[in-house]
Amino acid sequence: MCACRCGIRVHLRDGKPSYIEGNPEHPLNKGVICAKGASGLMKQNSPARLTRPLRRKAGAERGAGEFEPISWDEAFAMLEQRLARIRGTDPKKFALFTGRDQMQALTGLFARQFGTPNYAAHGGFCSVNMAAGMIYTIGGSFWEFGGPDLERAKLFVMLGTAEDHHSNPLKIAISKFKRDGGRFVSINPVRTGYSAIADEWIPIRPGTDGALLLALNQEIVAQGLFDREFVARYTNGGQLVITDAASPRHGLLATDEDADPVNPLYPQNQLWWDRHSNRAVATHTPGADPRLFGDYTLPDGTRVQPAFQLLAERLRAHTPEWAQEITGVPAATIRRLAHEMGITARDEKIELPIAWTDCWGNEHQTVTGNPVAFHAMRGLAAHSNGFHTVRSLGILMSLLGTIDRPGGFRHKPPFPRAIPPSAKTPTGPEGVQPDTPLAGLALGWPGSPEDLFVDDEGGPVRIDKGFSWEYPLSVHGLMHNVITNAWRGDPYRLDTLMIFMANMAWNSTMNTDQVRKMLNDRGADGEYRIPFLVVCDAFQSETVAFADLVLPDTTYLERHDVMSMLDRPISEFDGPVDSVRVPVVPPTGECKPFQEVLIELASRLKLPAFVDANGARKYRDYPDFIVRHETEPGSGIGFLAGWRGADGSKSLLGEPNPDQWQRYAENNCVFKHELPPSYRYMRNWNRGYMEWAQRHRLRRWGDPILVHLYSEVLQKFRLAAQDKWPGRRPPAHLAKRVETHFDPLPFYSQPLEVQATNTQRYPLAAITQRPMAMYHSWDSQNAWLRQIHTHNYLFVNPRTAAAAGVADGAWMWVESPWGRVRCMSRHSEAVEPGTVWTWNAIGKSPGAWGLAPDANEFTRGFILNHVISDTLPGGTSNSDPVTGQAGWYDVRVRLSPA
Ligand code: SF4
Repeated sequence: MCACRCGIRVHLRDGKPSYIEGNPEHPLNKGVICAKGASGLMKQNSPARLTRPLRRKAGAERGAGEFEPISWDEAFAMLEQRLARIRGTDPKKFALFTGRDQMQALTGLFARQFGTPNYAAHGGFCSVNMAAGMIYTIGGSFWEFGGPDLERAKLFVMLGTAEDHHSNPLKIAISKFKRDGGRFVSINPVRTGYSAIADEWIPIRPGTDGALLLALNQEIVAQGLFDREFVARYTNGGQLVITDAASPRHGLLATDEDADPVNPLYPQNQLWWDRHSNRAVATHTPGADPRLFGDYTLPDGTRVQPAFQLLAERLRAHTPEWAQEITGVPAATIRRLAHEMGITARDEKIELPIAWTDCWGNEHQTVTGNPVAFHAMRGLAAHSNGFHTVRSLGILMSLLGTIDRPGGFRHKPPFPRAIPPSAKTPTGPEGVQPDTPLAGLALGWPGSPEDLFVDDEGGPVRIDKGFSWEYPLSVHGLMHNVITNAWRGDPYRLDTLMIFMANMAWNSTMNTDQVRKMLNDRGADGEYRIPFLVVCDAFQSETVAFADLVLPDTTYLERHDVMSMLDRPISEFDGPVDSVRVPVVPPTGECKPFQEVLIELASRLKLPAFVDANGARKYRDYPDFIVRHETEPGSGIGFLAGWRGADGSKSLLGEPNPDQWQRYAENNCVFKHELPPSYRYMRNWNRGYMEWAQRHRLRRWGDPILVHLYSEVLQKFRLAAQDKWPGRRPPAHLAKRVETHFDPLPFYSQPLEVQATNTQRYPLAAITQRPMAMYHSWDSQNAWLRQIHTHNYLFVNPRTAAAAGVADGAWMWVESPWGRVRCMSRHSEAVEPGTVWTWNAIGKSPGAWGLAPDANEFTRGFILNHVISDTLPGGTSNSDPVTGQAGWYDVRVRLSPA
């Protein structure tokens, strides 16, 4: 049901779902089911279901929710005509943005084939900093793509994670970890969910985790508790950085220009300073061992220092005492925690009798590991300083030597990937042409200024300004900017905005009131500023009322779906896993799966990947597309990895198999491929794994992926901002911003919104998290789950509440510089005194979700978004200047009785 994607079994009575249980044979949840999953019946029977295509009535205002039913034929004809006109003139006038769906490989393909750059899913306003900060540092990330090895860890540290993130699998793992005697520390402003069962809760002020992590790194280095061998061989800590400020290559890694770079895109001709021969040698020269500290001069006179030396210098001032002032975590606690991490990693080493060979040809008889594991998520990410916070975490994990090793962090295929991954967007406006697919991906991974998607003046090409100098590494796009930018016409106006499964007029915007006005606003010509809004959803969310055209989606029980290796599979540490949903009941009313809508539209518009050479429709429907589509003709790679080949005998690669859906259905809807033990660890540097991954097209290149303690990618952007880069430069007004935030070493600065706020007047941080019993707004109409929550409180530490004169259970105002909202207080010791918090998406707008007019969601609930802003004073977006991540958790508030 939710993005956790547990396996379920649905029992039918008289053809109707009557009971849902966890599937004990499913590898992810092993039969465990949560409240949401078990309550799926009430989602199926929800009074909020949309069951027919709807058109806004002529003359009705947007937001009034006045619609008339139309047929699918009419809806498709309307869309075909409109989209064909846009595609034939200026494809970027069509934008497709999607919420927490699980079909981004298909929606992304549709957008690319259409030719619009204006596509993204919800990542930019969710956790892109977590993905980007980790992938630009270690080549992998948490959740779908990697996680803590709690089977073997001894110490588990969780930071900034919502109360049941990665729900059932993580609950199962933590339960076993604790029973086996592991120690669990949670660092979070709030102690609920996972934090409530932690052995130690370390409360921290929101947005300050970066300072804590820098201090932990400083202590690990200062106490000599880092894994020297790991740092030397598997990170770029030993590589030499040019430190001559006058050099045009200042801050880049020194290379031997006469040596073979092996792969010019990911060169391997950097240098170490060998401590045996006391001279510069090629990186990973057999028998050599790099100095990690020092200051050296190359034979040509170039001054260089090991990257690790620069990191150590950066860390030096970040003492526990310094961090205590910022984070509220006592210096003694920081010191103790660093020491515990360091000695657990050093003294409780794991050794597995698994032989493997590294990328440089060295044979190892065992796999070793340091049993300290971490998990982190949106609490670290959703701040405008989050990218460097997450990089600091990746560096801490690397100093402790825990990357893809037993007991630490482990990747899940298709990760690890190159730093940065090789997928790229077009690099200029010429990549968008009428009646032509986009000349690249809509979302990519820039490695230098040349990879940005900008015009000759350095201006953005995308509506959300993604991959421009404002947000160069916005690898998930910036969904939170779309409506505001389109309304402003900055950088241009849209014609049609299609939103799938995202409640952009309520809980999925940082600017609820303004966005509702923008959607309803007209220009001087009397036309809506966003002329045509298509909303595709299964339920009557607040956003539906603003649509010109509503397309009713099915529930998860009514359609085929794939959790694909091309997208976000459910892989495990030991190998690739993908899975499917198969429908257990037919669609309700006239509901149609959104995938079918895309296939139909793509066929009508004759998008090349969806038609044959004669322009005839290629795929009957979505299941047919899934079976027969290949990434390139004859590539043998499709959406599903299992039971490929004409007879289903091949895995991962193979010709299409017409019986593939059947084979999945016979196998618990899951395909699992176990790697041989020698390929399961150290995959950034494991020759056997790399060759296997290349053979199976999971990786394009087989080069080792050294951890980027020092980010040369960021330094290239900084050089451009300093006018020292031979290629593209940022516009003058952004140069300082790029120079500051593209620091090759991690740093802490206050979130941008906090810097712009009078914190004397608004002293409290206000944050939200998703409740365990509801998956965002999707479950707010679920009759069973509504027995758990129908309204929310703002949780306040009793000391803070007393200072504000607010009694437990009393009505109060929570007010930020942007607005105020009335809510009920609940005193709680489980929140640090400088923070207030609530669950998101429980409070509702009257008239939505099929709820009764006097529902508690309307009369007693609230959403905090009313006091958050997507724009900072001066008009810039409230986003991380590196990745564009929405700064949800940076708002500052005050309380008063109401
Ligand atoms: S965590 Fe999500 S996928 Fe798993 S049982 Fe609960 S609702 Fe279903």
